[in-house]
Amino acid sequence: MDRTFKNRFLSISLFLVISLLMLSCDNKEADDVKSYFTVSPENLVLDFEATGGTSFYTVNSDKTVQVISDKPDWCKAVLTNVSFDNLKIAVSENKEFQERKATVTISNGLEKRTIRITQQGVHPILTVDKNNVFIQFGKPEFTLDVDANIPFHFELPEWVTEKEGNEWREGKKTYAFMLSELPDELLIRESSIMIKSTNESIQIQPVAISITQKAVTKIIAHRGYWQTPNYPQNSLASFRRAIDLGIYGSEMDVYITTDGVVVLNHDATINGINVENSTYDDLKNIKLSNGEPMPTLRNCIILAKERNTVKLVIEIKPHSTTTNENRAVDAVVQLVEEYGITHLVDYISFSQNICKRLIAKNPKNRVAYLNGNLTPDALYNDGYWGLDYSSSVLKSNTSWVKRAQNLGITTNVWTVNSTEDFEYFISMGVNFITTDYPQNLKQLLTTYK
Ligand code: MG
Repeated sequence: MDRTFKNRFLSISLFLVISLLMLSCDNKEADDVKSYFTVSPENLVLDFEATGGTSFYTVNSDKTVQVISDKPDWCKAVLTNVSFDNLKIAVSENKEFQERKATVTISNGLEKRTIRITQQGVHPILTVDKNNVFIQFGKPEFTLDVDANIPFHFELPEWVTEKEGNEWREGKKTYAFMLSELPDELLIRESSIMIKSTNESIQIQPVAISITQKAVTKIIAHRGYWQTPNYPQNSLASFRRAIDLGIYGSEMDVYITTDGVVVLNHDATINGINVENSTYDDLKNIKLSNGEPMPTLRNCIILAKERNTVKLVIEIKPHSTTTNENRAVDAVVQLVEEYGITHLVDYISFSQNICKRLIAKNPKNRVAYLNGNLTPDALYNDGYWGLDYSSSVLKSNTSWVKRAQNLGITTNVWTVNSTEDFEYFISMGVNFITTDYPQNLKQLLTTYK
């Protein structure tokens, strides 16, 4: 071989060796490309709520795969055959109200793949069947249907109480509540019931239920309940009867004698004897038509205290002198306080002197004016608790009841006896109707819902 040929031969040989080497390398790479390992999905968000369940994953691998980590214990790989295409992961139910996460790691011996699982928690439920409660007529109670899967509690205004047995139970349950009696001074009161989770870590909006309680017109028996024989006006028998019939209040008329005894009588005289100019001894043997003696206020107070339900609406009659009026006021208030029944007594009078003295003695005395010649604003400014006007006065001044309501003073109307007038004043929204027929009014009110 000449030198040139030899060099060419060496070059070709070298090329062939390099080519073979390269080819050999290419074949090795081709073998590696055969190796594959995929898992799908890699990330999974489960919303199993309380049910739990099984998820399937597609595994593509040219080598045997095994699960090397499947913690925590609520999330398990179900591995029955290592040459699988589908990997099962069983997830237990999540009773928590927060999401939880798990990572499952699988390997084909050379590489690892991870599956990230997020499981949502149980959705907290707290729903109520109504947004507001309005109560006027009927029983002062109501129910709420609450659907909840979380512990909760009620926050109530002080005038609303839960009935017994209202403990929380999961799911839908009816809860019962009662309202306390609306004070006479209030025609309406409004507040909210809040329903809140007792577990602050559970994120859920409290539920608010608005609650409105409106006054029902209350019945005052005019001079007791005397519409049956043997129950004369201003007698103990008529007051006892009104109490027995469940009438809210009884009105009575009183005078003071010269020796300081407060007695019941509508007129200034009885059997021709002037009451305020007489001693009690002069009067004590006078009998009413049913044979009972003329009652004293003390008798009535003892009865009212004993029964502790009826309201006494004490009308102190105008007397012939301011001195006697003042004596009457002082004696009446002293009796009421002596027996501790201030909460059961309203005072009324046609005399401004009497009313003002009652208010001056104690601004908390509930004093209503009868004579109809003062506006609600004037009464309010003088510290009156309310107005107690004739039906004709209120029919002539149709804005006064509303005005009194706005000022926060009470309204009473006398003496209303017809169904038509009952309905007129109920719809006007008066606090009290004074009537000779309390049973009729009571019956009518039961028809309101
Ligand atoms: Mg009277």
